[in-house]
Amino acid sequence: MPQTNSFDLLLRNARLRGGQGLQDIAVRQGRIAAIGPDLTGTAALEEDAGGCLVLPGLVDTHIHLDKSCLLCRCRDAGGGLKGAIAAVSGLKRAFTVEDVYQRGARTLERAIMQGTMHMRAHVELDPLVGLRSFEAMTRLKRDYAFAIDLSICVFPQEGMTHDPAVERLLAQALAEGADLLGGCPYTDADPSLQMERIFALAVAHDVDLDFHLDFDLDPSWSHLEEICRRTVAAGWQGRVAVGHATKLAAIDDAALDRMTALLAEAGVGVTALPATDLYLNGRDQGHRAPRGVAPVHLLADGGVTVSVATNNVLNPFTPFGDGSLIRMGNLYANLMHLGPERFGDCLDMVSTTAARLMRIADYGIAVGGQADLIVLDADDEADAFGGIATPLMGFKRGRKSFVRPAATLVR
Ligand SMILES: [Zn+2]
Repeated sequence: MPQTNSFDLLLRNARLRGGQGLQDIAVRQGRIAAIGPDLTGTAALEEDAGGCLVLPGLVDTHIHLDKSCLLCRCRDAGGGLKGAIAAVSGLKRAFTVEDVYQRGARTLERAIMQGTMHMRAHVELDPLVGLRSFEAMTRLKRDYAFAIDLSICVFPQEGMTHDPAVERLLAQALAEGADLLGGCPYTDADPSLQMERIFALAVAHDVDLDFHLDFDLDPSWSHLEEICRRTVAAGWQGRVAVGHATKLAAIDDAALDRMTALLAEAGVGVTALPATDLYLNGRDQGHRAPRGVAPVHLLADGGVTVSVATNNVLNPFTPFGDGSLIRMGNLYANLMHLGPERFGDCLDMVSTTAARLMRIADYGIAVGGQADLIVLDADDEADAFGGIATPLMGFKRGRKSFVRPAATLVR
């Protein structure tokens, strides 16, 4: 490479997944321009990764920023999913744009500093909260664009078909810049009609879909087959995802195989939300509660696009969370009995395959790809994933977006 090469960023001594010696990564105009050992050239910014693992910025496909950080206002509602929905519903009327913005920003900043660079925020719209949470989300999207691509998914958490005002709010948000649409048929008086209307809205506005679905452990009924059927009928294959789908944890092997084939055929992605699903499911079974988390790694083996994501942080749905997607993947692996031979697959579920689920273009560390990079305090993949490594710094489109110096002992 000639000496005249000039770059915006040269990140030296990066260890990449797959591990072929240390590499330099050169970035120009937000894209990766070259990868190789000892690259020559000049750069506006040169950083040394010091042999640490470098990953593409992580992808959180499912989070509720609008209702994060509510623990100071309501403790555990004690009633599982229904209690959590009721607790937040009781607070929502008092949400202001500024309040949602401040709580969302707190969670967003934590996630950024944990290495997340793409995020799908699910935002509730209904007559209680109107468009206030949506407005806060559009401001967050603009104000934090330097560090993260925030995609806004509006959805009716508390039913839609009982009140025409809900659909009007969803349509208004889509007209005003919401990126995609969600549904929540299990809380609707008429689940099938909600699915029909949500698909019609998505087609009319040409947006992707992401449903909250099948969030219990009763295997006797499911909305998943209807979602797959409607996806194919609308020609929306590859554009529909569902979150939770915890019934998949309660069905037998043959039913899981059948459902896997159906999802793969319809191009419907599935997101497991282990922190919330573990916390809320199986409460009627005391200390013998089942895990209640969809086995998405088995779906992935059958060709389904899957992700593991955060869902809720510090609220009645999940009174835990620091925004770390590596921690979430680690939790998933732990509860699914997955060892180091599958750590790479689990990392994919918060990066590569999560990016596929969100249809993010040019994702990944390759020449021509988006220069979204994080440096982890770890030597390799197993160390990073098993040890829940801390990100030391990140570069969004080649520009440094956060630093998080490693802790040091003072002897
Ligand atoms: Zn959710």
